[in-house]
Amino acid sequence: MEVDYSNIKVIGFDADDTLWVNETYFREAEESVGQLLSHYETPNKIDQELFKMEIVNLPTYGYGVKGFILSMIELAITLSNGTVSNTIISKILDIGKDMINKPIELLDGVEDVLKVLSKDYKLIVATKGDLLDQERKLEKSGLLKYFHHIEVLSEKHESNYTQLLKRLEIKPDSFLMIGNSLKSDILPLVKIGAQAIHVPFHTTWQHETVTKKEANGSDYKTIECLTEILDFFNS
Ligand SMILES: [Mg+2]
Repeated sequence: MEVDYSNIKVIGFDADDTLWVNETYFREAEESVGQLLSHYETPNKIDQELFKMEIVNLPTYGYGVKGFILSMIELAITLSNGTVSNTIISKILDIGKDMINKPIELLDGVEDVLKVLSKDYKLIVATKGDLLDQERKLEKSGLLKYFHHIEVLSEKHESNYTQLLKRLEIKPDSFLMIGNSLKSDILPLVKIGAQAIHVPFHTTWQHETVTKKEANGSDYKTIECLTEILDFFNS
């Protein structure tokens, strides 16, 4: 069934793994910390424990690299029973700083899509993460000129989107959200009467995955590459 986007006036984009590569760097960092702490545990166990630590710390630190760095350090202290060396802690801090200083690697076709859509639609960014880090990435991406508004949210639940749309005076049925996370970018939007297009990235953080049951019955479109969006918005 063809979806009708004729009502759409504003298009929202997720940033990490929708506009640019992000999750890949977290995977690489997890691998590095696994090697650093291999003296204490197996890489698999370290992965699992790090994930648990991140989830426990989410309400305290929120999303993003800085919370991730603190969780890696806390894990090192816990796994080593408090004996981890300052050298290893310094190396963990370096892993985190490297993540923050990575160049921006735009995903295929991103700029082309934004260029075309920004002629006829208001475009906004709705992202989670550290405010400073997300602002820095947007600045480095060279994409700021295409967007009317940037919103860094601490969570992407229905209520966060409802508040955002209300504040920006956007009617839900005139809003389309595009993103890689079913949990954060797609399902909450469908629930509040907006439209959504899912563009999966090859790797998804465990915390962002949803079960088939959770996604069941939700009305959204899935595409493989962002440029496919232009097929629906031929002006
Ligand atoms: Mg994302």
